[in-house]
Amino acid sequence: MRKAFVAGNWKMNLDLSGSVALASSIKDELGSVSDVTVAVCPPSVYLKAVADALAGSAVAVGAQNMYVELKGAFTGEISGEMLLDVGCTYAILGHSERRHVLGEPDELIDAKVLRALDCGLRPILCVGETLDQRQAGQTGEVVTGQVRAGLAGVSVDRMAMLTVAYEPVWAIGTGLTATPEQAQEVHGMIRALVGELCGNEAAGALVIQYGGSVKADNASDLMAMPDIDGALVGGAALKAETFAPIVQACRTTAGG
Ligand code: PEP
Repeated sequence: MRKAFVAGNWKMNLDLSGSVALASSIKDELGSVSDVTVAVCPPSVYLKAVADALAGSAVAVGAQNMYVELKGAFTGEISGEMLLDVGCTYAILGHSERRHVLGEPDELIDAKVLRALDCGLRPILCVGETLDQRQAGQTGEVVTGQVRAGLAGVSVDRMAMLTVAYEPVWAIGTGLTATPEQAQEVHGMIRALVGELCGNEAAGALVIQYGGSVKADNASDLMAMPDIDGALVGGAALKAETFAPIVQACRTTAGG
């Protein structure tokens, strides 16, 4: 039985006081939830303040990115150990905005996944096709390639540390959501692929989140699908009153 996992990606939004206020509201609403894993991923400059605001609660903190090297002359970058030091448990890696806006290739994302695991951070590996790729019938090929590349070199015994987030790029921040059936088709494919790569035990235990305009009113139908184990939430994660109902939907329905 997989434990559902909902993570909020705050992206480059909010300020310091707004981040702390949102963390405090989420702590009030969700701080004692134990049947769903809940995490928030604020901008990196607010990680420590958010981690402090959430201290003593079950809500974990994640980073939105991480650099591949551990230390040295990498101006502007942040290492996995630094993220752990300020209270992170998770790191979102390969988000579509990093792939498509910042130009991160599969090889770099894989290196980050391996480095995060070495550091003891839990990677959330994001994959997903663009609208053009979906319309060209390339969804399976694209997602398969991203999963294969992102998991290259990850040993089976470390798979329990890792979450995959399927996020169709055309559904992120657009208000368009994959139908539960469209999402399930890809989630099922990812799980089968991980079965081939890492064995059925690791595949059966892998948490696969869906991301792309998840809201309170579509979360239950998505979560009712057998291979959808939670959500990576952008816009709706910016208010406790829109984030908490998604977590509540996962409590009752995630993974069918
Ligand atoms: C995301 O940024 O990962 C995301 C899914 O955003 P939104 O929920 O706003 O589509």
